[in-house]
Amino acid sequence: MTLRLHDTATRTVRDFLPLTPGKAGLYLCGATVQAPPHIGHIRSGVSFDILVRWLKVSGLEVTFCRNVTDIDDKILRTASAEGSPWWAVAERNQRAFTRAYEVLGCLPPDVEPRATGHVPEMITLIRRLIDSGHAYAAGGDVHFEVSSYDRYGALSGQRPEHMRAADDIEGGSAKRDPRDFALWKGHKPGEPYWDTPWGPGRPGWHLECSAMATKYLGPTFDIHGGGLDLVFPHHENEVAQSRAAGDGFARYWLHNGLVNLGGEKMSKSLGNSLLVDAMVAEVRPVELRYYLGQAHYRSGIEYSPEALAEASAAYRRIEGFVVRASEAAGTGTGTGRAAGTAGTGGTGGTGLPLASSLPAAFVAALDDDLAVPQALAVVHEVVTEGNTALAAGDQAGADKQAESVRAMLGVLGLDPLAAPWATAGDSGLSDVVEALVRVALDQRQAARARKDYPAADAIRDQLHAAGIVVEDTPAGPRWELAR
Ligand SMILES: [Zn+2]
Repeated sequence: MTLRLHDTATRTVRDFLPLTPGKAGLYLCGATVQAPPHIGHIRSGVSFDILVRWLKVSGLEVTFCRNVTDIDDKILRTASAEGSPWWAVAERNQRAFTRAYEVLGCLPPDVEPRATGHVPEMITLIRRLIDSGHAYAAGGDVHFEVSSYDRYGALSGQRPEHMRAADDIEGGSAKRDPRDFALWKGHKPGEPYWDTPWGPGRPGWHLECSAMATKYLGPTFDIHGGGLDLVFPHHENEVAQSRAAGDGFARYWLHNGLVNLGGEKMSKSLGNSLLVDAMVAEVRPVELRYYLGQAHYRSGIEYSPEALAEASAAYRRIEGFVVRASEAAGTGTGTGRAAGTAGTGGTGGTGLPLASSLPAAFVAALDDDLAVPQALAVVHEVVTEGNTALAAGDQAGADKQAESVRAMLGVLGLDPLAAPWATAGDSGLSDVVEALVRVALDQRQAARARKDYPAADAIRDQLHAAGIVVEDTPAGPRWELAR
């Protein structure tokens, strides 16, 4: 079976056939860095991270480009409200986004271009559009002429006569048609500007993405992604200007569903308590990733603390099996400690599993338009089998199930014993901590053996004060970091 993806442009699920066999180019509209991210923003990052991982596990060499829009009206408004330079606002929020992607275990893109670093490419694209009769300069702005492109509206499935006016009101009076949108916005006093043959100004949002996508992925590339709220007008405008200029542009359009709060799209005013920085102080990042990634990427998520708690519990059940199986096998003790690769193989040093190490039902689920809910059902089934094996003392069976679960979790970026969730690569410090805790636990066992319970309890309390929780199990004491 081959990978099939839902393409917004055709409104069908169709076979994914890359432009160049063995390779895949992916462009994802990244952050407009006007404010730090809430979970609605970062869901897109997690959804497309799962896609990138699955493309790689499927044997494709992926080029992943995720841009940063570092100049726009809202950034300028924030900067002027707080009396900071616009670039300081952009820089600060870009760091917050990077932190959020990292803390949720998203693989970094191969390139993360910023809009203001690509003005020459935008000028070239504007020139091509003017020369071919699809754009015009007026009143300091440059506009795309919607009526010059007869497929306008095809991506979002709208008829041109029903479309609303483009919302870039600036220079609206100089537009030939209210639907025309700004490729370039003429300079206004107090705003940053770049010089162009049509006068000084700053880029329009849609133009940026077309210029950056084709610079890094070529005039025609495989997949363009983004949130469902970007289909119109942003992506409609991107595809119009790029195709009008003669580029093939994206061959597949993928859109993730939104995170809603109280039935409304999460916005800055609604979502302050759901900023990623604030949430990861309350819930473990891996559990937040599980929560955001567990639904089908095209479904909406209605945020509720109860649903998040359910997701955490589901993840802990999986994690509990993996940790217990690894402890029983003697390959790891205590969470927060990596147990090596546990024989899951890996594709070319990426840390991702080989497709051949995955259950067929799991592969079939992800090949079917990334059906993560069905893929997770397979994970939970294997966890149940593994727990049965552990309870029966069938170590070989438990090992096999744990290996399978870890391989599947690796695809979803959720393996508790792999980076970034396990503290591998910390110069051996976790081994030292493990050894020190063992010394204390051995002394506690010795105290209990001689019935000196006050001494045993004192050791447990001291460990607790140091942030270590001890649990006594039939197989002996185990520990984990308090949370
Ligand atoms: Zn974009």
